[in-house]
Amino acid sequence: MSLAEPPAPNNQAQSGTLVSPHAGLAANHLLDTVLPVRPALIDRGSAARLKPGMLEELMNSGGARAMVLSGRQALINGNSLVLLDAAELALHLQDTAYAPEQLIYLGSALPGSDLPAGTELILFLLPQQFEVQAEEFEAHIAGIPEGAQWAGFRDVAAALNPTDTAIFVEASAIANWHGTHTHCPRCGTATVPEAGGWVRRCPSDGSEHYPRTDPAIIVTVVGADGRLLLGGGGPLDARNYSTLAGFVEPGESLEQAVVREIGEEVGVRVTACQYLGSQSWPFPASLMLGFTATTEDTEAAPDGVEVTRARWFSRSELQEAVLSGDIVISSRLSIARSLIEHWYGGVIQDRVDTA
Ligand SMILES: [Zn+2]
Repeated sequence: MSLAEPPAPNNQAQSGTLVSPHAGLAANHLLDTVLPVRPALIDRGSAARLKPGMLEELMNSGGARAMVLSGRQALINGNSLVLLDAAELALHLQDTAYAPEQLIYLGSALPGSDLPAGTELILFLLPQQFEVQAEEFEAHIAGIPEGAQWAGFRDVAAALNPTDTAIFVEASAIANWHGTHTHCPRCGTATVPEAGGWVRRCPSDGSEHYPRTDPAIIVTVVGADGRLLLGGGGPLDARNYSTLAGFVEPGESLEQAVVREIGEEVGVRVTACQYLGSQSWPFPASLMLGFTATTEDTEAAPDGVEVTRARWFSRSELQEAVLSGDIVISSRLSIARSLIEHWYGGVIQDRVDTA
């Protein structure tokens, strides 16, 4: 699907500090301040999946691997996703209570991934009620390693290799979309998946529906004195502090969302912002777009709803507060941590609890 060329944006006109578009520039002309680009590890096969019957064909050809997902949980063995033989699994599950509600093509492993290049991956979306019957399910299926556990992404993300992480994130994103988009938004008829599970079509009016992603901005706000503003919600004595974030509203540019959200949440007036990088966070459907922003303000007034606490930190104050346990900042898995360390200019040492 191609999008029409959008008109030139005019929302950046007031600020001379925003970066120019990168399109068409050689890589060595890019700013060196952006977060590292992590290459895709899975070829999603957007052309291959359009072929009718491609999933069946793939299954019959042998060698395809299956990831199983029930609710938000996947089978994990040690530090790895359990990938089963897809054809065998389909055979085992036939006519059982665990027969997948849907199969989705995830793509094939690219060179550089932790799987042999070309490994084809199919997502088996199991019925939700299966979660409580995991042991019985495992008794039916050959090839599940002893000790394998069902786990959610947050529980295992720190341990997974980059390829398993990519598979789990992609699978979660597409599964969450199917779970909440079962009916046509125009006429209410139940829609039917096609294109390897990447489109749903309404049989009544023929409309096609594509997976959705909700853009959200996440921002390091840096004050006139160079200090970083972090905030948190919940109880006033809570110790967790992070970057501020919020969803982009319809009809709004990313930059406008940054200015609005920071204004709403902590009463700080952003004067300029710059995009640094992004992270898919499909729980349920977010794409986190990381920015750093500057302000002339040195005070903050939390809205008391989304943000109840806000504090400014110099670099040494932040490192000291983390080491002393005064505050806890986002984990290394998150773009929040990358953004904070981008401002910091290096790795922030975590507190090591010896207890
Ligand atoms: Zn319809």
